[in-house]
Amino acid sequence: MTVISNFDLHCHTKASDGGFTPSQIVMKAYERGLNYLAITDHDLVAGVQEAITCAQQNNELLKQGSPLAPKENYIYENAQVEKVENGSLDRSFNERLLTIIPGIEFSTTWRNEQIHIVGLFIDIENQTLNDLMAKKKLSRTARAIAIGEKLERLGFERPYERCREQAQEGASITRGNYARLIYQDGKARTIDEAFHKYLRRGQKAYVQNDWGPIDEAVQAIKAASGIAVLAHPRRYKISNLRLRTLIEDFVAVGGEAMEVASCQQKPNDKLYLTQLCQKYNLLASLGSDFHNDGIFRNLGQNLDLPDSLQPVWTAPCAERFGLSAANKQRLVHLTHKKD
Ligand code: AMP
Ligand code: MN
Ligand code: MN
Ligand code: MN
Repeated sequence: MTVISNFDLHCHTKASDGGFTPSQIVMKAYERGLNYLAITDHDLVAGVQEAITCAQQNNELLKQGSPLAPKENYIYENAQVEKVENGSLDRSFNERLLTIIPGIEFSTTWRNEQIHIVGLFIDIENQTLNDLMAKKKLSRTARAIAIGEKLERLGFERPYERCREQAQEGASITRGNYARLIYQDGKARTIDEAFHKYLRRGQKAYVQNDWGPIDEAVQAIKAASGIAVLAHPRRYKISNLRLRTLIEDFVAVGGEAMEVASCQQKPNDKLYLTQLCQKYNLLASLGSDFHNDGIFRNLGQNLDLPDSLQPVWTAPCAERFGLSAANKQRLVHLTHKKD
């Protein structure tokens, strides 16, 4: 069973460690039937403007009913539509318009853990936000070069330069970029194995970095008129007690939302995050964290939010993007046909 949502508020482009340009991601979003997509690259917003421009051009084609307008294509050949919530399966051109939400995913360090904080509905021109991005860029670049040097000593050729060549100019280079390189060079069978063999804490090419405190990231997001969202809370290798402490600290510095739905998530994890979201009175967000084509993750996939939660787009800052409590997720439930 798969559910396809028309909202996806977390993904990456070639401006950081994603495999597609912002325009390519936008075209995929139309194909996947999305109406709202947030671009949330690591520590920068360099992909946002291209995505907005691409969506504006294609929305124009949809409004004109042009034969060149993007098409939907997400119902796999062997799938059966079980039901559609809050909408219909066949949508008019006007129901397929796409809004790009400007976003960012900040890396922070909290009690020696690398914690990610997503900012949504942000003003990308804001000075405080840009000052923090400049600071993060310095430390990210220094760390990326240090990882590259380690990999070079392990026999990889020009690793840092090749990561830069594969990404967009000025991109954030993360361990995700290096993992892909290691995989391409045949030194790991999967991206995950590249992390296990080289990039994880304790491995040969790991470089520790202090990303800066959570309050700095939350404050910059708020200064830019956005909302701070604790990213993928179940992905941190911390106990439930420690996770609750993290959320309490996050709330204390002004955090107002957390991701509850991700793809590749166990039902129990979503249930637990739903409880935490309610307990701490947070708004609920959802995001695939899509980076690249693969079997397990796709835009809009399995991102249904429980009805008991208040979605993040009910926040006042979402109004500037035409969103309010009146917007419900459209969910298309698919099952694989049995032969
Ligand atoms: P960095 O911020 O440079 O430490 O890199 C973090 C990025 O690496 C994350 O955003 C993911 O894209 C990626 N990443 C981390 N762990 C894994 C993993 N086990 N498998 C695949 N990608 C991962
Ligand atoms: Mn990443
Ligand atoms: Mn992340
Ligand atoms: Mn991410």
